[in-house]
Amino acid sequence: MSDNSLRLVWIYPDLLSTYGDQGNALVVERRARQRGLDVARLDVRSDQAIPTSGDIYLIGGGEDRPQRLAAERLRRDGGLHRAVGNGAIVFSVCAGYQILGHEFINDLGQREPGLGLLDVVSTRGEGERCVGDVLGDIDPGLGLPPLTGFENHQGITRLGPTARPLANVQLGKGNGTGDGTEGAYNDTVFGTYMHGPVLARNPLIADHLLKLALDVNALPPIDDRWYEALRSERITAAQQPA
Ligand code: GLN
Repeated sequence: MSDNSLRLVWIYPDLLSTYGDQGNALVVERRARQRGLDVARLDVRSDQAIPTSGDIYLIGGGEDRPQRLAAERLRRDGGLHRAVGNGAIVFSVCAGYQILGHEFINDLGQREPGLGLLDVVSTRGEGERCVGDVLGDIDPGLGLPPLTGFENHQGITRLGPTARPLANVQLGKGNGTGDGTEGAYNDTVFGTYMHGPVLARNPLIADHLLKLALDVNALPPIDDRWYEALRSERITAAQQPA
């Protein structure tokens, strides 16, 4: 962070942006501007270098082949590692989450190295694809209201000792390992299987990212009636019997 400006980087919109995940960038950008910040948003395509001086980096979900291509390019580029080394905050969804871990199974059925920025390993689930609405309790360490979103993934993810689960699910599969966990995080890097876009459904997670980037404990309140209406509508819908 420098003075009043926030540099927001949306990684590879040409490869990783399913189910409206780009909405996450819109939500962070808008909520930062509503707090008077001057936001410079950079959408970095996969043929461009990842800038290392961003404050918040967002990565979305993707199909299996674009996911492999994105992982190859991000490994070769190295910029995201340098950004995290500089203290940047990273928030990733689904394919992006798997890429941030140590490895995942790619579209060729092979083990593909990830970036190792989150202590998780993803494999291919043997059972049915995890599809549907998700409701969960966010890790108490984050002090955030319940998580709402939807998932659509075949991969499943196991957490290592230095990753904390982002949430525990009441409904849905989350990490898909049967332990009820969903997503993972460490001090500055976050991963989730939730689409929605997840930050539109859970705007206080966006605020949490902003607080970390700004190194503040609180942000000025803003009118969240629209978000609250969306949240309660989706939470009620998820609770209806199928
Ligand atoms: N291809 C990955 C999986 O199925 C991620 C899917 C996604 O990003 N929605 O596990």
